[in-house]
Amino acid sequence: MDFSLTEKQKMIKKITREFAEEYIAPVAQESDQKSELDPTVLEKMKELKYFGSCIPEEYGGAGLHNDTISFAIITEEIGRVDASWAITTGVHASVCAYPIYRFGTEEQKQKFLIDLAKGIKIGAFCLTEANAGSDAGGVQLTAEKDGDEYILNGSKIFATNGGISKTLLVVAKTGEKDKRKELTVFIVDTDTPGYSVGVKEDKLGVRASNTSELVFQDVRVPEENILGGLGSGFRIGLQILDYGRISIASQCVGLGQACLEKAIKYANEREQFGQKISRFQGIQWKIADMTTDIESARLLTYRAAWMCDQGMDYGLSGSMAKLVASEAAMKAAHQAVQIHGGYGTMKAYAVERYFRDAKMGEIYEGTSEIQRLVIANHMLRKK
Ligand SMILES: Cc1cc2nc3c(=O)[nH]c(=O)nc-3n(C[C@H](O)[C@H](O)[C@H](O)COP(=O)(O)OP(=O)(O)OC[C@H]3O[C@@H](n4cnc5c(N)ncnc54)[C@H](O)[C@@H]3O)c2cc1C
Repeated sequence: MDFSLTEKQKMIKKITREFAEEYIAPVAQESDQKSELDPTVLEKMKELKYFGSCIPEEYGGAGLHNDTISFAIITEEIGRVDASWAITTGVHASVCAYPIYRFGTEEQKQKFLIDLAKGIKIGAFCLTEANAGSDAGGVQLTAEKDGDEYILNGSKIFATNGGISKTLLVVAKTGEKDKRKELTVFIVDTDTPGYSVGVKEDKLGVRASNTSELVFQDVRVPEENILGGLGSGFRIGLQILDYGRISIASQCVGLGQACLEKAIKYANEREQFGQKISRFQGIQWKIADMTTDIESARLLTYRAAWMCDQGMDYGLSGSMAKLVASEAAMKAAHQAVQIHGGYGTMKAYAVERYFRDAKMGEIYEGTSEIQRLVIANHMLRKK
């Protein structure tokens, strides 16, 4: 078993770290306070192909579609500096662009994927509704067939990138079969009449990322925009989320790492009782636990990414990675604030933002409870 990164992966890690520190770090606090992404960072990200990291070069991407570990490393390094950017690029790449590459027709790839991979258009994945959160079966947004088009009516909430996207993957109800709801994923161009952006959420963490309500009123979508076949929404929706969870896990590993690094730096500088606080065993044990939790999360995340690249079923591994990484980041953020004492609660210290950002990882793309449900279901069904 070889745990080392390849030379290419090491290089991707180094380049992404340098980029994140040079361009994202200086504006991260301000972006959080303004609840807005920085446009200069966006342009630089397009240039470096971060929006198309997991898309082949022939469709305008960076060609890492068979190297999910590299995709994880990129998201981790961005998450280490700013979780808002990690969720923005992560959602765009993992649950919008990549599914079009994986399940789309050649025509859909030409029409939608190239602009997404180049970052010319931003993408979103829209599943959640007011009555459909953890339970995707609650989807009420309907798509009714009319000739060779479908008419979408309803609304989605909490869509990451929703207000800044040009291309959406929308999960809609297309009928019922054997008393079960039939769901279908549609690719929707946001220039289509009847579509509008509703409330932009003002939230606890990842504040710079855009989270919006989306409204569909008689939005006509051509039949050829169905992704993966009519009625395949449940099946491909779950597969889309499996891949997305590797991205969220990576974001959380990066955020946990940032908490650890800030905590170590502060503990080695701050003096109380005539010595550095890092000399106290009470602080040392916190550092030890943070380090161990984050490294465990990183290993699970890279393993899920590796299994994906081997063509193995990585649903269970992805859920375990997402669960462990999001909880490790939350614990690390908690301890990082604690180690900073009162200063850790002040906006001037990055750990205050990390603490708010970390909570988000335990909620989106399936809460911790839902990950436990997925893991238990896998285990209990196992022969
Ligand atoms: C910042 C942000 C960005 C998001 N981005 C997107 C996005 O891009 N696209 C998208 O579609 N959605 C997105 N979401 C929605 C997110 O995926 C949901 O919020 C999440 O799945 C939980 O759904 P809910 O909020 O309706 O909570 P609920 O499902 O109502 O859950 C409430 C509580 O009950 C628990 N619970 C529910 N069912 C069970 C069960 N069976 N067993 C045990 N406990 C249970 C939950 O774990 C939770 O603790 C985003 C959310 C946030 C906060």
